[in-house]
This record gives sequence, C-alpha cells and structure tokens, in this order.
Amino acid sequence: NKQVILKNYVSGLPKETDMHITNTNIALEVPKGSNGVLLKNLYLSCDPYMRPRMKKIEGHYVEPFKIGMPLSGYGVAEVLDSEHPKFKKGDLVWGMTGWEEYSLITAPNLFKIQHTDVPLSYYTGILGMPGMTAYAGFYELCSPKKGENIFISAASGAVGQLVGQFAKLLGCYVVGTHRLAYYLNNKVDLLKNKFGFDEAFNYKEEPDLDAALKRYFPEGIDMYFENVGGKMLDAVLLNMKVHGRIAVCGMISQYNLDKPEGVRNLMNLISKRIRMEGFLVLDYYHLYPKFLETIIPHIKEGKIVYVEDTAEGLERAPAALVGLFTGHNVGKQVVAVAH
Ligand code: NDP
Repeated sequence: NKQVILKNYVSGLPKETDMHITNTNIALEVPKGSNGVLLKNLYLSCDPYMRPRMKKIEGHYVEPFKIGMPLSGYGVAEVLDSEHPKFKKGDLVWGMTGWEEYSLITAPNLFKIQHTDVPLSYYTGILGMPGMTAYAGFYELCSPKKGENIFISAASGAVGQLVGQFAKLLGCYVVGTHRLAYYLNNKVDLLKNKFGFDEAFNYKEEPDLDAALKRYFPEGIDMYFENVGGKMLDAVLLNMKVHGRIAVCGMISQYNLDKPEGVRNLMNLISKRIRMEGFLVLDYYHLYPKFLETIIPHIKEGKIVYVEDTAEGLERAPAALVGLFTGHNVGKQVVAVAH
C-alpha cells in the first residue's frame, strides 16, 4: 500500500520534500463487526486547507496531520469491503480518505455517489467539497442579484471558477483575478474565454491594486468572494459599494506566513455598511442534494464548464499539493491514483 507521509511540521512555503512515499503491506479486508470500510482510492483532492494541517496550531477547525502518518483529505474511492450497514462492496463514494492506495476507514464520513454518468474525479471538485463551497458562499451568504458587480480572487481555481459561472448565469458583471507565475499558461484567457468572466487580470502585474479595481469597477463592487486575503482584501475594502457583501471563504496568501498580515481598511465596513461574513462548507452539507439537482443539469447542458489539472499517480501527489501555493495548478488540482 503506497502512502504519502508527512515527514515533519512545515514552516513557510511547503516543499515536495516535506513528504515522502512509503510502501507497506496491509490486509485487504475489514475486521468483522467493526463498522469500517476498505477503500480503493481512485482520485485525491489537493485543497488549500491542508496547508494549515501541516503545522501544529491550536484552534484550527481541522486537526493537524500526524507526523510519520499518511496525509488525509477528500477523495473518490471504490468500496472493496464493508462492515458498515450503509456501504457495500462495489459502491463508489466520496469524502474523507487517506493519501494512499487503500484506506481502512473505521468511522466512515462518506457520500455514496449516485450519478456516475459524469467523470468520477468531479466529486473531488465541482460535485464535491469545493463545489458546495462555491454554492454556499455565493447563494447562501451573499444574496446575489442580477446585474450586480462581482469580484472573485484566486478565480480560476476549484471554487473560484464555479462562483464566476454561477454569477454569470445570474446575469452579473464578473471580474476575476489571479497572480500567475510567468511560466504558466495564461489564466486570464481561461477566465474570460472558458469560464465567460467579463474581465480578468493578473494582480501581480498591477503596481496599484486600488487603481486596478477602480478601473474594473468604476461604480464599485457589490459582492467580493474572498479566497486570498492580505493586500487584496485591503484594496477591495476601498472599492466596495455601500451595503456590499464579502463572503470570506479563504485567505490563502496568509497560510504560509508565521504571523498573518494586518488589514488596514476595516473602517470601510462601518462607513459603507458592508456585511463581511466567514463561512465553512461543513455547515452547509444539508444542501448537498439540492446543490446536485441544480448543478448536474447545468454540467450536462454545457452551461457550466469545469477545468481540472490532473497529476497522474500517487508519487506525484506531494508536488501537486505544494503547487497550489505557487499557483501552479490551472483549475482544480486532482491526483489520479487509480482509474
Ligand atoms: P485553488 O484551486 O484556487 O488553488 C489555490 C490558488 O490560490 C492557487 O492556484 C493560486 O491561484 C492562489 N494562491 C496560492 N497561493 C497564493 C498566495 N500566497 N497569494 C495569493 N493567491 C495564492 O483552491 P480552491 O479553489 O480549492 O480554494 C480557494 C480558497 O477557498 C482557498 O482560500 C481555500 O482555503 C478556500 N476554501 C474554503 C472553504 C470553506 O469552507 N470556507 C472550503 C474550500 C476552500 P493563482 O495563481 O491563480 O492566483
């Protein structure tokens, strides 16, 4: 059983060498009467929240990884054996699993996959946790309306690409940003021509973020979907409209810092009566059936498109994960473990 093991807690930008691959033998059956399931992992999801789990911090909403043990995260798997009443051999599932070829899960927290006429890897993204995040953050937190001005950071990633397309379907003006490294394909092109954003820009190329936002939003921003934090949030606060809304989904620019940056322009929350609200997707899974009902027809009719960046093989999982923090991923970063 090949596994991706965390060698030690990490400070600064994570590196491939913070993890290593081992190969151990395991029994491919579930102990009788245990309530467990044995999974063959097919796809693993690389997600930014895994970075805080690589350090020993108190009070994070998920536990740190254990040193010397395989990482864990969202994935898509086939049930090989089960002692759990809800699952049987042959079921396809998504949810929390190990970063390894086979996982014995003692307390399964898994969704059974009902729709198999879409790529199974989609359950790591558009039909899984990031998809639910985009849906909950956009519709539940922000009460969006047709014609509003929407701004999205880290816009071409798993969550951002969906928020942008939800907003376009509703008839909003949508601008996305990224901070492309020079050696990658053009994410502006992806945002505008594949996902249909009205405008997109690389904020690393903008010496004055405030001025850039004024150029794209001369009348101001109604809703900001926050994925990045730091200087971006500061510039956005200067450009929100009165009664604007900010859905605080993530702040990836802060995840590798030992001490988070301060935000200077918070006073705008008062003068502009802005509603800024953080959320966790964990609180919204009761909406999952409704979400699937909405999104599956959109995918089948081509109204929503989805871009994945797939690393082939568990050996490439460490590089794929650390690539999230340099923006190396173009779309949702997935690791294909077995097809
Ligand atoms: P992405 O697929 O967008 O991948 C991460 C992207 O973030 C990178 O491609 C890069 O994009 C950008 N990025 C990386 N490092 C930095 C940095 N230092 N400064 C600015 N941008 C950076 O990830 P997801 O779509 O899965 O997640 C997006 C956000 O949503 C994250 O902040 C994540 O933590 C959050 N999230 C929150 C959830 C919740 O329940 N609240 C659930 C799921 C995700 P680029 O180079 O294009 O800028």
